[in-house]
Amino acid sequence: MGDHMAKVKVRVSVDFATCQGCATCQALCSEIFEVREDGKAWPTKDIIEVEESELENLLNKIKEAVTTCPLQCITYEVIK
Ligand code: SF4
Repeated sequence: MGDHMAKVKVRVSVDFATCQGCATCQALCSEIFEVREDGKAWPTKDIIEVEESELENLLNKIKEAVTTCPLQCITYEVIK
């Protein structure tokens, strides 16, 4: 107990050379992905910080985008 404020960081990356701006990821999760004027999906934050209790929920959203992206250009890592 005690460390109830524990935060976890997640970094989401898009391979811009591959992304075609189809906006599927944005449609699934607009708080994480944003297709900009350059026609590429940008992570809305470089590092997403969440409570440990919210991590699974966040990862489920990210994983859905990762597996749905037609060009498989989304990756992520959990930074402890
Ligand atoms: S789903 Fe993939 S290809 Fe489509 S905008 Fe998102 S990152 Fe780019």
